[in-house]
Amino acid sequence: MQIKITGLSKIYKNGNRALENCDLEIGSGMFGLLGPNGAGKTTLMRILVTLMKPTSGHILVGDLDIQRDRREIRSMLGYLPQEFRFFSKLKTWEFLDYVASLAGLRNPRTRKKAVDEMLEQVGLFDVRDRLANKLSGGMKRRLGIAQALIGNPKIIVVDEPTTGLDPEERIRFRNLIADLGQGEVTILLSTHIVGDISSTCHNMALLNQGRVVFKGSPDELVEKARGHTWRIEAVDSELEEIKDKFSVISTVPSADGWEVHVVGDKLDGFSAQAVDPDLEHAYVYYMEHYLGENN
Ligand code: ADP
Repeated sequence: MQIKITGLSKIYKNGNRALENCDLEIGSGMFGLLGPNGAGKTTLMRILVTLMKPTSGHILVGDLDIQRDRREIRSMLGYLPQEFRFFSKLKTWEFLDYVASLAGLRNPRTRKKAVDEMLEQVGLFDVRDRLANKLSGGMKRRLGIAQALIGNPKIIVVDEPTTGLDPEERIRFRNLIADLGQGEVTILLSTHIVGDISSTCHNMALLNQGRVVFKGSPDELVEKARGHTWRIEAVDSELEEIKDKFSVISTVPSADGWEVHVVGDKLDGFSAQAVDPDLEHAYVYYMEHYLGENN
């Protein structure tokens, strides 16, 4: 399913410009939308899932127009918002059963089958009788995915998937999403955490202050940082100066002091070795250096 976003802008009532003239094309598979807090990601997601109208611009989903064919588009969508609240009195399976009926699964037998399969898929079958709001953080997140997936949506929109999860749950969540991304569906994953943009994202965009500042593959973004990422062997007294001059990615103790990975250009006097950039380096380089110099 192809999503085409053209000239999308959103100005909130209080004058906040959350999106400015965004153009994006999103095809099947997994698409990562990366940007710092306040970049406009949630605004874009909410417009896409028809919860909010843009100030101007268009979105086409296949041949359907988001303003004109709202209901049809909604029936193709699964949305996992950043914060998901469950009704306090429903058991895990009852909640999913309720969402499934909203998603159009009217036949009780078909619905039960779909609910049981989904509970299995996200690993919640064994806790299906527990009250949904009594599940652990990671389980709630998985129930959130389950409700987004039930009814076989063609487009799945996930906002900040790993916020609040512990590392183990984070990995599990990433794997689950990556599995889903293998099929024909389109998954749009929005995050401010570089690590969420997994290797299964073929395409991605960077959003900064409401603008799309990069579109392409994660590898293309990484290449932008080549020649700008360094390892510096430093002693204690040099650390402050390094922090002033560079964007520090990591600092780890070494035999003689510290091994500091940095992004930057003006090396003046520091003995530094070039290192291969990764996506984390590339994100920092692009946001803190490249945009400043190329705008
Ligand atoms: P992100 O999801 O990338 O953190 P958001 O879409 O939440 O970004 O926010 C983008 C900008 O729009 C921010 O400056 C934010 O303060 C502003 N904003 C978000 N929601 C509203 C709202 N309901 N009213 C006014 N401004 C808002």
